[in-house]
Amino acid sequence: MPAGPAADPPHPLAAPLLAGERRALAKAITLAESTRPDHEREAQTLLSQVLPHAGRSVRVGLTGVPGVGKSTFIEALGVRLADAGHRVAVLAVDPSSVRTGGSIMGDKTRMPALTVHEGAFIRPSPSGGTLGGVARRTREAITLCEAAGFDVLLVETVGVGQSETQVAAMTDLFVLLTLPNAGDELQGIKRGIMELADLCVVNKADTNPAAANRAQRELSAALRLLTPHDAPWRPRALQASALTGAGLDEVWAAVEEYRSDPGRVERRRREQTGAWFEELLREAAWRKFRAGVDAERLRALRAEVLAARLTPVQGVRELMGDRKG
Ligand code: GDP
Repeated sequence: MPAGPAADPPHPLAAPLLAGERRALAKAITLAESTRPDHEREAQTLLSQVLPHAGRSVRVGLTGVPGVGKSTFIEALGVRLADAGHRVAVLAVDPSSVRTGGSIMGDKTRMPALTVHEGAFIRPSPSGGTLGGVARRTREAITLCEAAGFDVLLVETVGVGQSETQVAAMTDLFVLLTLPNAGDELQGIKRGIMELADLCVVNKADTNPAAANRAQRELSAALRLLTPHDAPWRPRALQASALTGAGLDEVWAAVEEYRSDPGRVERRRREQTGAWFEELLREAAWRKFRAGVDAERLRALRAEVLAARLTPVQGVRELMGDRKG
């Protein structure tokens, strides 16, 4: 194989994708989600060709427990932004699709108004594979959406498992949606997720304004405690109603404020690129290892470990010593 990407002829999807054609974008994402080796190679060619045109967007991650109002919120915010002339892409990372092939987020008809908006593009979570695989494909989908001219990327994930960390590592700003009953909520929100949040938004403020005010105060206090003094951004708590639209402008104003410091965004982007590189490296190293290892030997050692005749540490040592090539 002589060639680097520069030697590949332009992929047929590259031109229509860069022209912003949604069908080409959808096809390109399907290609990037495929696990067929020839599709994977094609997708990498396409990605490397459009990569120079990617990156010019704001990437916002959103999370919250099922029922907090994520789809309602993203739809309301997305329609506002698209009406204002932005091109808005919505992607999802759904860890339930990893385990079951089904999904918490994908089954109902979500975001009907945004779905038909000409300034918007909505893509459900890739399904199957590992969470790492889902995350990798979502990263690639981000790149493809940006190359197609989408300037606002909303990446949604459901508040379970490790997916928040993954989505925070691929976005510029991470938003945690919570409910007005924050007293109970705060107990339930894992500290790790609060630490990832650049913004906390108490949604459904319309249902109980007094509780929403209280929740906002409590979340503000919690965020203050969690944030180091020299942090480049002080995470804050806001409140909103995805149903009435109240507070959505303030949420977006906070996103804009976050973005107003180019150094801050630049640093986050470098972190994202670094995380992406490391993930790909880990994946490639694993694939290479699996290709080189004696599968029979691997099974036998695993059985030894499960039967407690070897410790996991001994099993791995022995396997690494055993590796062919
Ligand atoms: P998700 O599971 O987090 O995506 O939540 P959904 O967006 O599906 O919302 C769950 C329910 O809460 C739906 O019935 C929404 O209409 C409702 N909902 C969402 N946001 C608000 C809000 O701001 N106020 C009120 N009153 N209801 C809301």
